[in-house]
Amino acid sequence: MPATGENLCPACSGKGKGKGKADGDACPECNGTGKVTTGIGGG
Ligand SMILES: [Zn+2]
Repeated sequence: MPATGENLCPACSGKGKGKGKADGDACPECNGTGKVTTGIGGG
């Protein structure tokens, strides 16, 4: 098992777009990737 995992960004639900903004603005939490890497065991 890897120590870290790639998960859907909770801020944009994996859409990669900023919440409440028009399409075009990348989500600041995941930089528009729609995914975030989280560490297991403390995070
Ligand atoms: Zn995001």
